[in-house]
Amino acid sequence: MKKQNISDAVIRRLPRYYRHLNDLCAKGVVRISSHSLGLKMDITASQIRQDFSCFGEFGQQGYGYNVEELRAEIGHILGVDQDHHLIVIGVGNLGHALIQNFRFAQSGFTVDAAFDVSPQVVGTTLNNIPVLPMDSLEDYVKVHKIDVVVLTVPKAAVQDIVDRLTQLGIRGFWNFTNIELEAKDPEVKIENIHFSDSLLTLSYRIANN
Ligand code: NAD
Repeated sequence: MKKQNISDAVIRRLPRYYRHLNDLCAKGVVRISSHSLGLKMDITASQIRQDFSCFGEFGQQGYGYNVEELRAEIGHILGVDQDHHLIVIGVGNLGHALIQNFRFAQSGFTVDAAFDVSPQVVGTTLNNIPVLPMDSLEDYVKVHKIDVVVLTVPKAAVQDIVDRLTQLGIRGFWNFTNIELEAKDPEVKIENIHFSDSLLTLSYRIANN
């Protein structure tokens, strides 16, 4: 597969393509044109063709895309088929809600364990996931292949945890702490999630309707 330098904007559209293609597969749609996919996603057909051309030729001119094949290709590009493993640190309101409700497996992730400092949650299990004490984190990470760490701890605790885990070779962080973490090492990838960004975008749109 041809792979160029892929822009951040294209990478950020890939999960949307994947989600829409999953929906189309579930509805039994076999084939779709870039025009119809564009209408569903509110982007132009030429943008779609341009995005896909970064990764190779997926469709046939004038014939559209095979939905299942395109879904599998984009899933592969996203790494959904790579059996990624993650741990969650901080099992309070948000960590608890994610472990109980978020479908990590749909994105190709297996949740192996959770960690916390509170005796109220350490030793319990949530959705069959064991909640382990923070002082066992280093030993755990040394013997388990962990790709991503979900950060749902208080703000004050997060940098120290990231530093500890980066030293142990962890390269992916999904950060919910509302702190804008920056990777000091280019190999380390961080997604900072701010729920308020989405709400404020909506706020702008209704304020400027
Ligand atoms: P919370 O206080 O309910 O839970 C935090 C958990 O982290 C607790 O179980 C606590 O024991 C644990 N913890 C504290 N220090 C730790 C450490 N050093 N190592 C490991 N575990 C530790 O908080 P929350 O509401 O779940 O929020 C968690 C983070 O997510 C916060 O940074 C918050 O700002 C952010 N956030 C929360 C929400 C939300 O809806 N609750 C939304 C967006 C962002």
